[in-house]
Amino acid sequence: MLRGVLIKKEVNKPTKRATKKAESKSRPPWFDLPTYKARPQLNDRRHAVVVGAGIAGITTACALAKRGWTVEIIESNEAIAQGGSGNPQGIVLPRINIGNSAEGVFYDAAFLKTLSELEQLKQQFPELNWQQGGVLQLGSTARIKKQIAHFKGTSYDLQTDHKSVCKEVQVLSSKAASEIAGIKIEEEALYFPQAGWIDPVQLCRLLLKQAGDSVQLTNNCHVGSIEVDEGVWILRDEKQSLVAQSDSVILANASAASHFTQTDFLPLNYARGQISVVSSTESSQKLSCVICHDGYIIPESNGKHVIGASFIAGDDSVETRLEDDRENINRLRNALPDLFSGEPSGEISIVNSRAAVRATTPDRLPLVGPVADAVFFAENYHDLHKGRPVEKYASAKYLAGLYVNAGHGARGLTSAFLSAEVIATQLNDEPLAVSDSIWQALSPSRFTIRKYRKASNR
Ligand SMILES: Cc1cc2nc3c(=O)[nH]c(=O)nc-3n(C[C@H](O)[C@H](O)[C@H](O)COP(=O)(O)OP(=O)(O)OC[C@H]3O[C@@H](n4cnc5c(N)ncnc54)[C@H](O)[C@@H]3O)c2cc1C
Repeated sequence: MLRGVLIKKEVNKPTKRATKKAESKSRPPWFDLPTYKARPQLNDRRHAVVVGAGIAGITTACALAKRGWTVEIIESNEAIAQGGSGNPQGIVLPRINIGNSAEGVFYDAAFLKTLSELEQLKQQFPELNWQQGGVLQLGSTARIKKQIAHFKGTSYDLQTDHKSVCKEVQVLSSKAASEIAGIKIEEEALYFPQAGWIDPVQLCRLLLKQAGDSVQLTNNCHVGSIEVDEGVWILRDEKQSLVAQSDSVILANASAASHFTQTDFLPLNYARGQISVVSSTESSQKLSCVICHDGYIIPESNGKHVIGASFIAGDDSVETRLEDDRENINRLRNALPDLFSGEPSGEISIVNSRAAVRATTPDRLPLVGPVADAVFFAENYHDLHKGRPVEKYASAKYLAGLYVNAGHGARGLTSAFLSAEVIATQLNDEPLAVSDSIWQALSPSRFTIRKYRKASNR
């Protein structure tokens, strides 16, 4: 098959089929999808094992269950959503990136997917604590200030790709922002009217409830190793006892997804974060939407606000620390000095703290897709920097049936649903759930390919 062919601009509108064909030709072979043979056989027993019961694992299991699969989730902890997904409140917000970067386009699509999934779930479970009250982003960093300046000067062209979220984003004057927030906002701010906050633990619980018997959960079980035997993946615990087996396995265990010998090339890092839960007061109860500054505060729920969050790269401790609470409070005071000022003591009372670890990647996009056969990649693509014609290269080879869905960083509540869909459509032999460029941007092999492309490796 000829690859890397430039798509000529046609005078007539191309047919859907022609567009699809052209797209696959523009995809370099190292980002080819797993061939049918490299995927597990689709037989009556559509069964998968997911490692990790956070939002990534649970959405993946549920996306497969919706397609008639049965799924086992294996989780180290005694309950679901005890890691990064275990905060009492979390923000659902896209990541704006000026221009048409893969990051911006992915989070844009992911945000819209999440909104539609949450709407459906709320219809079935009205108790879902999804509060779509909007999010105000203050210009606390140079990046956000730049975005505010950009959005002020832009009238969006609805023909552009990156339109769907951006056209909703508004720059509000301090007066308009104050009206929406219900409290005094001293500066202009970006407003995301469709965004909001959710209870992530309840979300995970309701997703499993919706899936019913199709998804089985095993708690208190740490997967220590995986190995493949005649196309079947065998998962063992740290004592080498058999935990589960299946021809399809999805590693959704955050930064630990790279702890297996087959995946140790994945560049997953971690960053500790701590939220502080503070008592609401008469004045803070007026807050009616999420405010993000260089931290954030979420409107009260049951008399408490979640404020957050510290971010310490390279630290995986989940012990709560006084200094993180202080940092959360100081940031809040700097951004919104009047919010708690009505209190006699002026004190902000912390009732709880919670620390967890985010799994991060160098380009802030998650790793979603099939796991590369690292030996094949090294043998076939190590000389990419030489610039040989693309058609000289063989199609990518993957470890059949092994997938990863991890590295959701600080936006897992926004990115999980679409990422789950990417995996489920692949396993179920359906057309890609995302554009070809997003598929490449999420590919777990992208860093290996970037390394081989770099001239410095010569
Ligand atoms: C302080 C803080 C605040 C945050 N705020 C927000 C927010 O407002 N909005 C937002 O979108 N995101 C937020 N995030 C990020 C978000 O929480 C994560 O992106 C998301 O939870 C990632 O989900 P996950 O399922 O990939 O990982 P996790 O929820 O961490 O789940 C991974 C699971 O895998 C299990 N596991 C690991 N290894 C194994 C093994 N070998 N065998 C079996 N099980 C295993 C773990 O026990 C864990 O349950 C925040 C994160 C932190 C830390």
